[in-house]
This record gives sequence, C-alpha cells and structure tokens, in this order.
Amino acid sequence: METMKSFTLTLNDIPADGLTRQWHLDDAFFQNLEDTQYQRGSLDVAMNAKRTTSGADIDLQVTGMLVVQCDRCGDEMEAHIEGSEEIKVRVGENAGDDGDIITVLDTDSELDLSWNIYEAIALAVPLHPVHAEGHCNAEMELLLQQHQADAQPDSRWAALSKLKDTIK
Ligand SMILES: [Zn+2]
Repeated sequence: METMKSFTLTLNDIPADGLTRQWHLDDAFFQNLEDTQYQRGSLDVAMNAKRTTSGADIDLQVTGMLVVQCDRCGDEMEAHIEGSEEIKVRVGENAGDDGDIITVLDTDSELDLSWNIYEAIALAVPLHPVHAEGHCNAEMELLLQQHQADAQPDSRWAALSKLKDTIK
C-alpha cells in the first residue's frame, strides 16, 4: 500500500553518518495495518538509524495521542503516548523479525518498519487507561456515585439498621 511504502528502507539507504526520518501518523496508519487493537490516533515518529558492522541499529521514538478504551466505563478516550523501540538489523541467511532483531537477506532487502512503529505505540499504552475523575460516561458516573454512597452510609441508615437489630 502506498502509504505504508514510506515506512520501508534498506540498509543501503542508511549512510555512514546515519539516517533520521520523521513521520506523522494519523488514523490511516492504523487502518492500513491489519488486526490492530488501536484504530485511531495522531502521533509523531522520529527514527534514528545508525550503520553497524553487521547491519544497523534503529531507534524509534513515538509521541502523541492514541484513542483507547477506558478501563472503567468502556467508552473511548484519548491517551497520551510516549514510547520508544530499539531494533537491531542484521544480514543473515534466514530473513525474519524476532521482535528485537530483524534479519534481512542483504543490504538491498526492504525493511518495513510500520509494525515496529505500531508496537512501540501499543507498548506505551497505560495498563489501565481511565478517564479523568468525573469524565466517564453517565451510566458509569451514576454507578460510581452509588458506590460512594454505599461506602459511606449516612447516620440515619445506621440508626435504622440498629433498630432492626433490636427488633430481631
Ligand atoms: Zn471512562
């Protein structure tokens, strides 16, 4: 896909003094990837690539906003994302990506970083993203208020339940 093309490079693209690239990601980035949990966001990616004797070291920094699901009410919310990922690229006989090391067949082989970028973003999502206090959906806010009321019974109810105990 044309938009994904811009996230590919080869080792030959990286000059001896390194290569820096900046990308801006919007919803289209997520929609062009298959099977992603996150579908919308607006983020900036900075890539720094350095040649090494055996290949290259690539550093990805991602910052921005991602639409995630609130852990409390289940509605969508915007989470601030700040993440990074380091990838080592090596030339070898069996091409593949084991998460930390990408093996390419030769210095002309295309390297698609789009999934690595997605991973850097997904790993930076808070474990339990929740709306700010009082900003969950109305249904959840009501439940939370009821829960708080239950947790702090007012004195009239306490008196009543004492009375109930005496009657028994
Ligand atoms: Zn919420």
